[in-house]
Order: sequence, then structure tokens, then C-alpha cells
Amino acid sequence: MNQVIKKNFEIDKTKAKRLRSMGISGLFLQINKKNEQSSSKTPQNIDNLNIKEVKNIVQECQSCELHKTRNMSVFGEGNENAQIMFIGEAPGKDEDMTGQPFIGRAGQLLDRIIQAMKMKREDIYICNAVKCRPENNRKPTVDEVKSCSSFLDFQIKKVNPKIIICLGLVAAEYILGENDKLKNLRGKFYQRYGAKILITYHPAALLRDPSKKKLVWEDMQIVMKEVGIDV
Ligand code: SF4
Repeated sequence: MNQVIKKNFEIDKTKAKRLRSMGISGLFLQINKKNEQSSSKTPQNIDNLNIKEVKNIVQECQSCELHKTRNMSVFGEGNENAQIMFIGEAPGKDEDMTGQPFIGRAGQLLDRIIQAMKMKREDIYICNAVKCRPENNRKPTVDEVKSCSSFLDFQIKKVNPKIIICLGLVAAEYILGENDKLKNLRGKFYQRYGAKILITYHPAALLRDPSKKKLVWEDMQIVMKEVGIDV
């Protein structure tokens, strides 16, 4: 065992002890064993854990290169029984510093969109396709999204929303399994994960191009009608 692996293994033993007290030793030891072989493994068998337990795993996750530059991972938050789930792209600088999703300028705009839909943050669940910030806010790679996908899949299964709103193409491409321009994908429902999927622009795109706000509002009205909110 070289010195770096040995050091990681010693750190992991401490983490494993802490997680054992939460009853998730088997899973964590399995992850450690994988990490000794490769840094690009995705945790498996998390379906039987609860959201808090998986959030703890995400905080320690080293399954892709993004862990090297993150300050904090950003798991996601909100109503675990929400009818509507928003999925963005990746944490930004403010989110990386606090561990909370959508709190920067784009997040504040999303709050205003949610309010315009006659809802509050507490009514919805919100997370990102990848849980760690890519440096300089670059777009996460397909491999990074794939490495993180078991966490997103877990969140969708646990929350079991009626409607999933994908904010931007990163989330849309993973959830739909299709590549196309956003303008071609938006404005209608798709069926995936036992939910209705709607694709719309990321709030950061609205900050760059406010003319897109009208299109997002049209998309949100489709969602409001579907959940029975007067438009
Ligand atoms: S982005 Fe996801 S897979 Fe990569 S290190 Fe962070 S939590 Fe793990």
C-alpha cells in the first residue's frame, strides 16, 4: 500500500467508524474498498438508506475529480414529499461555500419564479445533477454527471415527485437521455422516472439573457396547470 492510499485508508477508517454508528458500515466499507482501487467509482446500494445518510455519504464522496476542488458538496434540500422537484446543473461559488443549493443570484431569481408560481421553497425539492462545484463554474462533463447520478436517482426515488423541472441542458440530457437544443426540448411534458418531466432554461441563463424569462414563465404556467394552481 503506498503512502497516499495508506493515508486515505486511515482517514476512511475514522469516517467508517462514525458511519458505523449510523448503521451503514457495510456500504461505507464497500466504497472504501473501491476507492483503494480507483477514484472514479460510484457508490452502489444506497437505495435502502434515508436522505440524511446519503447526504453524509455525499459530503465525503470522492467518486469523481470534482471532490478535489470543492469546498463543500451540495446535496440538495426541500420538501421530501414535494410534488415538484427542480434539478439544476451544479453548485456555484456561493453554494460551494455554504453547502446550500441555489442561494446565489440565480437562486434568488429561482425563488422569485417559485413565488410567482404561488409556492414557497418549502413546498418544493431542489438539487443539482452534480453535487460538487466544477472549477470556474464550467459545465460538468458527461462522466462527472454519470459518477454522481446514483445520488440524483436516489433523490428522485425518495421524493417521488409528480413533476420534475430540469433547469438547463445538463439535467435535461441526463433525465431524458436525449441531446437536443433547449429551445426544442422545452414547453412540453415528457414521461420518465414515473414523473412528468419539463425542460426549461436555467435561471443563470435568464440573468445572461432576460428575454428568456417570458419562455420560462410559459413553461411554469404549464406546471401550475398540471398541479391545479390557478394561472
Ligand atoms: S460530484 Fe458527485 S460523484 Fe463527484 S465527488 Fe461530488 S458527490 Fe461525488
